[in-house]
Amino acid sequence: MFKVPALDYDYGDLAPAISKHIMELHHDKHHQAYVDKLNAALEQSPELGSRTLLNLLTNLDSVPEAIRTAVRNQGGGHYNHTLFWKFMAPHAGGEPSGNLGKALNDKFGDFQKFTEAFEAKAGSVFGSGWAWLMPDLSIVTTPNQDNPVMNGGTSPLLGVDVWEHAYYLDYLNKRADYLKAWWNVINWPFVEARFAQNNDAELAF
Ligand code: MN
Repeated sequence: MFKVPALDYDYGDLAPAISKHIMELHHDKHHQAYVDKLNAALEQSPELGSRTLLNLLTNLDSVPEAIRTAVRNQGGGHYNHTLFWKFMAPHAGGEPSGNLGKALNDKFGDFQKFTEAFEAKAGSVFGSGWAWLMPDLSIVTTPNQDNPVMNGGTSPLLGVDVWEHAYYLDYLNKRADYLKAWWNVINWPFVEARFAQNNDAELAF
């Protein structure tokens, strides 16, 4: 049975970029619902019980068709949100340093140009989905709760939830304002570590 991981910080710690109210609903209700529905689907196929979430998501073709869509949507929701909470931290933001900071500058010109490119891509998502920074520093989007790992890709370095539930209470329809504020809570040391290691060892739930 999968479980929603506890946050590494308090619900109100990301304010004002993201309010306590949003964090409580997003973590305790939305993420919990993905996990509950994932577990309910997996109960129908007990033979899958020993597989990790990443193993399920990277091998969706091997999941019985009857629950494949549920595992994709609910399992993707669990995976994406587990990452999302770690992408953020209180008293964070600023610019990445080290190899990642250098690589972003080399690719985009400077950090601000990178953020503009990322915001433009995230702003272009039609409806609900995510925008991701990949290990090769490309910026991609996925619809719904999909993740690049489902299409044979690697796990992203960083990503932002652009479902309305992630920002509407604070920003109403102004997704662009949410995206601009989001940079103030990015946990760059975590992202830099993913860039250096490019593995998901700590996500072996
Ligand atoms: Mn969400």
